[in-house]
This record gives sequence, structure tokens and C-alpha cells, in this order.
Amino acid sequence: MSMTIFGKSICVLGGGGFLGSHLVEALARRHCARVTAVDRSLSKLTCDAPQVDRLCASIENPDVVAYAVESHDIVVSTTAICNPALYNTEPLAVIDASFTHLLPLVSACTKAGKRLVHFSTCEVYGRGQLDPEGRTLPMREDESALVLGPVHLERWSYAAAKQLLERVIIGCGLHQGLDFTIIRPFNVIGPRMDFLPGVDGEGVPRVLACFIRALFQGEPLLLVDGGQARRSFIYVDELIEAVVRILERGAAVAGQVVNLGNPDNDITIAELARLIIRAFEHRTGRTHSAGTRGVPAQELYGPGYDDVDRRIADISKARRLLDFDPKVSLDSMLPSIVEDYFVRYGKAYGL
Ligand code: UDP
Repeated sequence: MSMTIFGKSICVLGGGGFLGSHLVEALARRHCARVTAVDRSLSKLTCDAPQVDRLCASIENPDVVAYAVESHDIVVSTTAICNPALYNTEPLAVIDASFTHLLPLVSACTKAGKRLVHFSTCEVYGRGQLDPEGRTLPMREDESALVLGPVHLERWSYAAAKQLLERVIIGCGLHQGLDFTIIRPFNVIGPRMDFLPGVDGEGVPRVLACFIRALFQGEPLLLVDGGQARRSFIYVDELIEAVVRILERGAAVAGQVVNLGNPDNDITIAELARLIIRAFEHRTGRTHSAGTRGVPAQELYGPGYDDVDRRIADISKARRLLDFDPKVSLDSMLPSIVEDYFVRYGKAYGL
């Protein structure tokens, strides 16, 4: 195994976000010479290791892109608006954040000969492909068709923007020599995810934060269309360990698109609600008597929303190239996630 990040400087764009802040902390524990975290807000980044530099700035600023590329060996891009409730309500901002604002970065990395590790998304697979019996097939990086809904269903604005940027990156790689790796994470959960509406943000966050807010408020957890959609969740620490290996094993993953997820944690959203309620009740010692309530998707998200029935990552490439072997079950990850929400938000709810 080559440890190619030894002595390197790495710039993490979006270093104040959920995945970015976990990545900066993990890199600070490794052997890279310097990590720069760039974000509009760095409040989630508690790490104060001496080799971590912080830059509060937007990647819309060309000087920031120039600094990221010229002053570092590797650039990791994690910035996006990755909240499904915004795909159909703020589609232009979503497309800008995942496409327009990142074009200058891709082009600068190509021109400067710098390595780019880009966070894309499993959302690019769209609705997924079905087998003859109607079951969703595992999603494969180099084989699966990317099946998006019609353009009036704006849910797919994010997937389309992410897919097009992937195509730009691959084009720069194949035709202009860009050294890149694209990561497609599948439903990562863990401490510091998203925001809680009414406390440190507004709107509808992703499902974990929606459920936690309802639990803090003593309200029913809302199950969109009965909670029958399925997702497979991966614990953030396991995903970040794989990203560090991607940074370390540059030659093995050069020019590759890599799925990172945990297919063993595939469950319905209704079942997820049951597990989170149980973890929350265990933490408080009280029963969550409000339970769950089914809602039509339109009620929560408005027009233009569409759902993915099931998402299963084929992770054989990550297993082969990275010795990736995610093991953390939902039952074992949920207590620490719930605890993190208590630490960060308990006071706001008088707990
Ligand atoms: N969902 C739900 N209740 C909520 C929020 C989300 O049932 O309060 C559902 C949503 O419709 C989807 C799944 O949970 O089927 C996961 O949604 P999330 O927003 O976390 O992200 P996605 O996996 O769709 O990108």
C-alpha cells in the first residue's frame, strides 16, 4: 500500500460541512503536512490541530479557487446543496452549487496538474434499474444506467447537475490529463449531520434530522408515503476512512468512480424510525408516545418531489481497491448519533 499523502498538503472545500468536517479531522490525525478547511461557516469544525488551517470563504470567489489549487497538492471538493427538500424548491441554487460553481475548480485543477478528489452522489443513479421481477438492482459505477425522472419533476435537478459535473471531470481526465477520483456516497449518517429546523436552520433537512427534531418536540415522526422507501445507511467514520484511503492510494483510484456505502444496512424508512425512537427512548428513559404518522410526499416536499424506492450500492470496486469493508450496523451507530444531537441541541429543547 502506498501512503501517498505523507507530507502532502490537502485543501478540503466544504471543510465546515458534515462530511468535510469529519474528513478534515481524520486527515489531521494522519501524516499529511497541512490541511486547509475552506467553507462559508466552519462552526462544525471543532478540530484545532496545528496542521489545520481555516479559511472562511466561498468557492464562488475565484481567488479562493486559485488559492486552493495553487497552494495545495490535492483538492477535495465536498461543497453542494444536498438536501432533497431544496431540489424542487431551490433548483437553480442547487444546480449552481453542484455544477456552475465547480466548473472553474475542475478547469483550474486540470491546468495546474493538481489531483482532484470530488464528492459526487448516489443520487446520480436516480430511480435505479429493475430486474425482470421488479426488484432494484445494485448500483454499479461503470455499468448502471443513470435513470432520472422527467424534467418537471425537479427532484432530479441535483442528480442532473452532479452527473453533468462528473462528465466534465471524466472528460478532463480522458482528454486533458486531469488526475481525479469521483466518490459516490450512499446515505451517510452520523454526528453533526444537517440542522434542526427552528434551532439552527429552516426547512426540511434529511430524514435523520427530521426524525430527531420530531423526537425532541414530542411530535410524530413523519413517514413519507408510509415510510416504505428503503435506504442503506453507512456510518460516517467508515465512509471517511475509505476517503482517506482514496487520498492515500492515488495511483489505484486514478480516473475511477467509486461507490461508498453499506448494503448490509438496507432498511425501510419506517423501520429506521422504529430504531431511532428506540435509541432516543433509551437515552431519555421516557416513551415517545406520539409515535409515527404517514404523510403524502406532496405535504412535506411540495410539487416536483419524487422518491427513490431503494438504493443499494455495489461496493465490489471499493472492496478491491481500498480493502473497504463497512461493518457498523444501525443498531450500533444510532446511540452515539442520538447522543451527539443531545450534546448539540439538548439545551435548546430544555433537556
Ligand atoms: N423521509 C421521511 N420522513 C421525513 C424525511 C424523509 O419519510 O421526515 C423519507 C424520504 O421521502 C425518503 C427517505 O426518507 O424516502 C430519505 O430521505 P432523505 O431526505 O434523507 O434523503 P434521500 O435518501 O432521499 O436523498
